[in-house]
Amino acid sequence: MEKEERTSRSNFIKDIIDEDIKNNKNEGRVVTRFPPEPNGYLHIGHAKSICINFGLAKQYAGRCHLRMDDTNPEKEEMEYIESIINDVRWLGFDWGENLYYASDYFEQLYQWGLLLIRKGLAYVCDMTPEEVSATRGTPSVPGTESPGRTRSVEENLDLFERMRAGEFPDGSRTLRARINMASPNMNLRDPVLYRIKRAEHQRTGNDWCIYPMYDFAHGQSDYIEGITHSICTLEFEAHRPLYDWFLDHLAEQGRVRPRQIEFARLSMTYTVMSKRKLLELVASKFVDGWDDPRMPTISGLRRRGYTPESIRDFAERIGVAKADNIVDVALLEHCLREDLNKRAPRFMAVLDPLKVVIENYPEGKTEELEAVNNPEDEGMGSRTMPFSRVIYIERDDFREEAPPKFFRLAPGKEVRLKFAYYVKCTAVEKDATGEIAEIRCAYDPATRGGWSEDGRKVKGTIHWVSAEHSIGVTARLYDYLFTDPDPEDAAGEGDFTRFLNKDSLMILDECRAEPSLAGVRPGDRFQLERIGYFCVDPDSQEGKPVLNRTVTLKDTKGKN
Ligand code: ATP
Ligand code: MG
Repeated sequence: MEKEERTSRSNFIKDIIDEDIKNNKNEGRVVTRFPPEPNGYLHIGHAKSICINFGLAKQYAGRCHLRMDDTNPEKEEMEYIESIINDVRWLGFDWGENLYYASDYFEQLYQWGLLLIRKGLAYVCDMTPEEVSATRGTPSVPGTESPGRTRSVEENLDLFERMRAGEFPDGSRTLRARINMASPNMNLRDPVLYRIKRAEHQRTGNDWCIYPMYDFAHGQSDYIEGITHSICTLEFEAHRPLYDWFLDHLAEQGRVRPRQIEFARLSMTYTVMSKRKLLELVASKFVDGWDDPRMPTISGLRRRGYTPESIRDFAERIGVAKADNIVDVALLEHCLREDLNKRAPRFMAVLDPLKVVIENYPEGKTEELEAVNNPEDEGMGSRTMPFSRVIYIERDDFREEAPPKFFRLAPGKEVRLKFAYYVKCTAVEKDATGEIAEIRCAYDPATRGGWSEDGRKVKGTIHWVSAEHSIGVTARLYDYLFTDPDPEDAAGEGDFTRFLNKDSLMILDECRAEPSLAGVRPGDRFQLERIGYFCVDPDSQEGKPVLNRTVTLKDTKGKN
């Protein structure tokens, strides 16, 4: 019920679309798109955009295209394209037949370059990229006009065709729009439309040695695909007049023209979000690849154990706004806990084992005790856990000298072993170094299942595994990747990597888990009682699972 309400919540983008539908604009059709540049893996910010665009298409019974904005051959790779397709699908969205590539429009864009020249609206400029930027002026000082601006249409056509034919060296010429070198909007100061760049493109190979600039490709790609609502982040607001200028001169009468709507990009605490910075973390091996479970990438979140449902819920809760803000990562974790609490089966494992010998329990005896799989969902049933004379508990659940509020195990104190028995500590054994080697307990056979027949209560309940039956597992515990909630802001002009958290990964190799975990596979998610939600990592070996802690059971501000 709550979910339903959330997904139907209104926002300013929906208001605009409602208004367009009311006016029967585009015959009431809604066509959106998600247009990533395949120069890195998608992150949680992209997930917000994906949820908005695909969500609107769904709500208005329209469609949403997935389009690779692949106009920059040097930074783009097939690996990124594949990861994008995989990630959008994993998030639960479907573009049907509508997968497109801006590179499929290269010929059309080139023809539009020629058309602008013929209309006297574009010219070939002989300045170097440095000269072009040096002559752009500043917002308050007009730029200087390029000498190429006065070339004849014929000369421009000839030069542009020869640019395409490969007659000129890289960077020696550009095609520029003839708009206004004094415009207060810098984007309108004769922007570059095409540059010469001999670079192999992952889809068009060596067919082209000139490539359109992003700004000359983006709006027209929307137009070619019949996008009705082109939703993008705020930094493109000042580009909108340029996109409109192109379509004013290139679009055909009566065809759908995209309406651009800008919203605030997602920023989140304790992380960085730009692909360039994420690439830096990968390239310099601060993290173990784009899908490192500490990364804010969709593939990292997936490997960490996030569910698509929790990410969609998060996107819905943060909503869309016009003002930049920074969302607390605790909200994302909250959405995840809420989802996993309902769905994740429970198991027991001990991360830091302390041996416990139950002296009055018969040697060689094993009992199978019933354990509930999920107290939130009876339908998930139960399993059995073997119990025997020697068990492991968490080292931290025992104190030789217990402080007043310590309700777990201590000499002379009684505690409940979940689903098993009450045990009382009778002795502590130490090794030569004074470290506690094992503890001795007595159990009460009349408390089978963890409940006392005489109504005697204990304050503490701890988890355990049978030593002989347990299996070895590795646990990876994570903390935030950065020590500062806003590392980019904290770094200012300096290096944001200064704020990387050196303790963001803790590996525990000696953990013991109940035998039911022997059969888990990479991607499986569950709760380890009292320790957190976990997900099986692809690094797992046969018989030795590697478990990523997805999130702790309560908000601990990222701490292991
Ligand atoms: P980055 O700065 O991280 O490299 P980008 O904007 O260059 O991101 P694109 O591949 O161009 O990445 O983005 C594809 C779509 O995702 C665009 O429509 C963009 O507006 C949107 N997007 C990117 N980052 C965010 C974000 N942090 N929040 C919301 N939407 C985003
Ligand atoms: Mg971009």
